[in-house]
Amino acid sequence: MALYVLKFGGTSVGSVERIQAVAQRVKRYRDQGHQVAVVVSAMSGETNRLVALAKDINEQPMTRELDVLLSTGEQVTIALLSMALMTIGVPATSMTGDQIRMMTDSTHSKARIMDIDEQAVMSVLNGGKVAVIAGFQGRDEQGNITTLGRGGSDTSAVAMAAALKADECRIYTDVDGVYTTDPRVEPNARKMDTITFEEMLELASLGAKVLQIRSVEFAGKYNVPLRVLSSFQDEGEGTLITFEEQDMEAPLVSGIAFNRDEARLSILGVPDQPNVAASVLLPIGKADIDVDMIIQNSVGDNTADFTFTVHRNDYARATEVLEQVSADLGAREVRGNDKIAKISVVGVGMKSHVGVASTMFESLGNEGINIQLISTSEIKISVVVEEKYLELAVRTLHSAFKLEQTA
Ligand code: ASP
Ligand code: MG
Repeated sequence: MALYVLKFGGTSVGSVERIQAVAQRVKRYRDQGHQVAVVVSAMSGETNRLVALAKDINEQPMTRELDVLLSTGEQVTIALLSMALMTIGVPATSMTGDQIRMMTDSTHSKARIMDIDEQAVMSVLNGGKVAVIAGFQGRDEQGNITTLGRGGSDTSAVAMAAALKADECRIYTDVDGVYTTDPRVEPNARKMDTITFEEMLELASLGAKVLQIRSVEFAGKYNVPLRVLSSFQDEGEGTLITFEEQDMEAPLVSGIAFNRDEARLSILGVPDQPNVAASVLLPIGKADIDVDMIIQNSVGDNTADFTFTVHRNDYARATEVLEQVSADLGAREVRGNDKIAKISVVGVGMKSHVGVASTMFESLGNEGINIQLISTSEIKISVVVEEKYLELAVRTLHSAFKLEQTA
């Protein structure tokens, strides 16, 4: 007998039929003798619908009231799922964030979890029932309702699994696992049986949006075994997110992530002197624009060039700020391009092998794809290319690193 925390996202509970299918799945766990706590999201589209209602009243809804409003979405699902379970003979109790004592700080709409009192859920489980828990919501010390940020039910589930010392936290979603890249771009993408936390964090933050990043960080920190699997299929082991690469021969590259949401900006011919990086980037930060890649280059002619990338939505504003910076510093020119894409190869195997970068650059070069920017970390190499080459680049790298379907 094991203790599982199962999490079902919005599409998995998107209709009465889907909720009944979830109930059947939970029943199968119970029939095998397992203890089960289920964490659910709001029915798909519901949270967006509620946000829109609030915005019809005030463009900037008061965050405390918004949390009261948004938390109702999950409350609908826990009640319906509990009813569905009891209807097929599985004892169940719905529990709100308050009832599971999901204690958070008071930062409405992006509250951090402080503590969970696992006793309340444990006593439901030990009483022979399924605990059906509202994800995404918590409460602060004063008893105000809080929410954990969009997609936060993943984090609720992982936190619950950590508190209960569950054997595994299983995230049921609309894909059957984590793929080597997006199958819509590369049909030969392969589902991975395992991936490390480190790799998952890189792939998630690079746009392979399977899990909320925070939930992966949380699982890594509290050693929660985490598995992603499909709620639309009965078969399949999904993808297990592991602590360490179990194979001796870790693949060089595990996956390829990409992101089309970025834009590139350059400021050229800035006087090369101490503090110049700060004087370029501080005004960007002050304008609340997040910078991703940063490259500074000085070759000894007393000027420096800077290139960095920002979210495409921030491109126009960043250009304005940079024009001003350019005038203030007496730089030569500002240039930019918002038709770029970032592609990254990720793999823990890179730590102990050389040659990944050269394989990457060479295979892109052979396809005539020009690389505009490069950045590297211990387990990742990212390049920026023209957006129109995105698909070709992803497919080229996928086969260069032999990631395709082996069957
Ligand atoms: N219902 C919330 C959202 O749509 C939380 C979640 O689904 O994880 O963001
Ligand atoms: Mg989600």
